[in-house]
Formats: sequence, structure tokens, C-alpha cells
Amino acid sequence: MQVLVINSGSSSIKYQLLDPDSGAVVASGQVSRIGEPVAPGTATVEYHSDGRTLEHDGAVPDHATGLRIVFELFARGGHDLTAAGLTAVGHRVVHGGEVFYRPTLIDDAVVRSIDELSSLAPLHNPANVTGIESARELLPDVPQVAVFDTAFFHGLPDAAKTYAIDAKVAAAHGIRRYGFHGTSHEYVSGRAAELLDRDPAELNQIVFHLGNGASASAIRGGRAVDTTMGLTPLEGLVMGTRSGDLDPGIIPHLARTADMDIDAIDNLLNRDSGIKGLSGVNDFRELFRLIETGDDAARLAYDVYVHRLRRYLGAYLVELGRVDAIVFTAGVGENNARVRADALAGLERFGIAVDPGRNEAKDRGARYISPPGTEVSVLVVPTNEELAIARAAAGLVG
Ligand code: ADP
Repeated sequence: MQVLVINSGSSSIKYQLLDPDSGAVVASGQVSRIGEPVAPGTATVEYHSDGRTLEHDGAVPDHATGLRIVFELFARGGHDLTAAGLTAVGHRVVHGGEVFYRPTLIDDAVVRSIDELSSLAPLHNPANVTGIESARELLPDVPQVAVFDTAFFHGLPDAAKTYAIDAKVAAAHGIRRYGFHGTSHEYVSGRAAELLDRDPAELNQIVFHLGNGASASAIRGGRAVDTTMGLTPLEGLVMGTRSGDLDPGIIPHLARTADMDIDAIDNLLNRDSGIKGLSGVNDFRELFRLIETGDDAARLAYDVYVHRLRRYLGAYLVELGRVDAIVFTAGVGENNARVRADALAGLERFGIAVDPGRNEAKDRGARYISPPGTEVSVLVVPTNEELAIARAAAGLVG
């Protein structure tokens, strides 16, 4: 079996061809800078397979062209996708709204519904739709499946998903907490249960997905009971370029006193805030280089980031009452030992500790970083959203 997984963003398409059973990746790559002018000779489409890289240079005007070039690179690499007998194409879709909460076979009506949800995710759903339409054109006979980032959080308890605003306004505009990164939280918590050799239904877990975007979730018996992201992926933790939580009063204050319109404010909070807004850089490796040079702004950015992590850790410890595992994943969560140590420092009285040797080991697989015998297992589990999407898609089409 082979599934092509497509993650289509506003100016990029990431893709992977993989075996959903073994997880073996046949080929992967991305199209970048779609719709942007690029200097001649700039590589915009990459294809990696069998340790070999193929590239396409030059501007990519739109998603359909980008995907067509990907198919050409597949053919050049010896994998003709149109003749490969693919089991399915799995599409990551960011917002499923109230409508979609399980993997869904795509037809015209589903595409229309995903498009209609664009008001809730204006940066993401239109790009997802474009990716879906291009893939359907190129592979009309292969079943296409949408897997939603919000799905794992569909069953959040009412108290966790309801914003305390006028209920009629909220209902009229679909305003509630939806949560994102669900595919990752679900996959990682499942892998954590395997590592612990326990039934997920018996476990309470707190998962920190810390990448450029970042979110935490509280999971009881395999079901999410809370998460940090809300109506949009802006709420919650401090992120690479996003503010996370702030006083909503800041928005009218900026509109009135800084003469910013709503798009400028949206841009500020999504692209020029978070670690980048405070330090000038959004990548954690650069942030740490700045901290080592004694840069006070970088140090403050890091302290704010860790402060927010610990605030949610405390909230979720109380919500769950008993916690069996705390799990770190994604770029920062998997690779940055200092963030993990600082997030959990001084919590021995709650049965939480990090073993410095285990935490700092240059190991890449799923692993324990708590000392043997502690009450709460602290784990690092690499996320694999592509595999989770491939399995969901293959599972649906049988
Ligand atoms: P995205 O949300 O874009 O998928 P990632 O999960 O790739 O983000 O996370 C990106 C972040 O992870 C960056 O801040 C980067 O510095 C950090 N990161 C990735 N790899 C490493 C590494 N090997 N060591 C330290 N930090 C890393």
C-alpha cells in the first residue's frame, strides 16, 4: 500500500509518499514560494528519494503547477504516481469547523464545505482546497481523504470549548474553541501509550507540541479534554511568530491608539509577535545563539515562553487531577533539552522530574527523560503527522 500525503499551505505544498503500515517513506519533498517572484536558478520544488535529491528551478505560479512539477519529479525519480495504484491521497485540512470530525472521503460537496469554513481559517482552508482540487485533477481515480487538524478536539467538554461572550453572537458566528495540531496530539499520545505499554484508555497525559506553532493538550483516557489553541491557532502558548494568549482589550486599544486596521493587527499578532516579536528571531537555534551572546531581549523572550508553558502545565495538572505522562514533541519539543528541563523544573513534589543525562542524550527516537521510578513519566515522542494522515486515509478507504 502507498498513500500520498499532501499538506498544502498558502505558498507551499509539503508532500510524502509512504507505506501506511510500515511507515516507510518512499519519497518526500516540498514546493515553496508559490505565487512569488524568484531569482532565476532558485530551487522551488524539491524531491527526495533513496538518498537522492531532484530539484526544479524557477517561479511556480500556482498550486496546480507546483503539484504537476512534483508529479514530473516523481516520474523522473522512477515512481510514476499515475500508474502506481495509490491506495489514497491524504490531505491535511486545518479547519473542520463543527462539520468534520473524522477522516472524510472527498467529493464535490466536501470540497465546498471545506471552502465554506474559510471564514474560520482564512490563511489555511483556501490553500487546503487548492491542494485538494489540484490532486483530484491529477489523480481522478484515486480516493482522496481529508484529515482535519481540529478533529481530535471535537469532543472537548462544553466548559473547555465555550468562550464567555454573548452566546447568541458566538452561535451566529461559529465562535468556540476548536483546537489545532490534533493529528499530532492524537498520534503522539498513542505512541506514548505504546512506549508505556499501557492501554491509552487508562492514561492521563499532557502533550506539548512545540514547533513554530505550539500547543498543549490535556488528554484523559485517550480523549482530549482541553487544549491551548482556540477558534484559531493564535490562542495559547507563545509561538515562533504568534503571540498566544493576550488581553483581548489590546486589539481595540491598538485600533484606537496606534491607528492600525484589523488586517494590520492580525498580521502583528500572527507574524510579528511571539519569540520573533520579542527577540527579532523566530527560530529557537538562533534564539539560543543570541542568549549566549548576552542578549537581554532574547533572554526575556525565552523566559516569557517558558512562563506560559508552565502556566498551562499547572492548569492541566489540576484539570486532570492525576497525570501519568507528560510528552514533548515537534521541532523544539524533540530537540531542545533546555526547554524541557526548564518547563518541568522544581516540580518533584508533584512526582515530576527530568533526568539530565536522559534529557540531554542525543537520541532521536521515542524515549523516557524522567528518572526510573518517578510517578509521572516524562517522554519525548517524535511526531509524524504524515504517517497519521496516511493511516487515517488508508483506514477509511479500506
Ligand atoms: P513547524 O511548526 O514549522 O512544523 P517544527 O516542528 O519544524 O515547526 O519546529 C521548528 C522549531 O524547532 C524551530 O524553532 C527550530 O529552531 C526548532 N528545531 C528544529 N530542529 C532543531 C534541532 N535539531 N535543535 C534545536 N532546535 C530545533
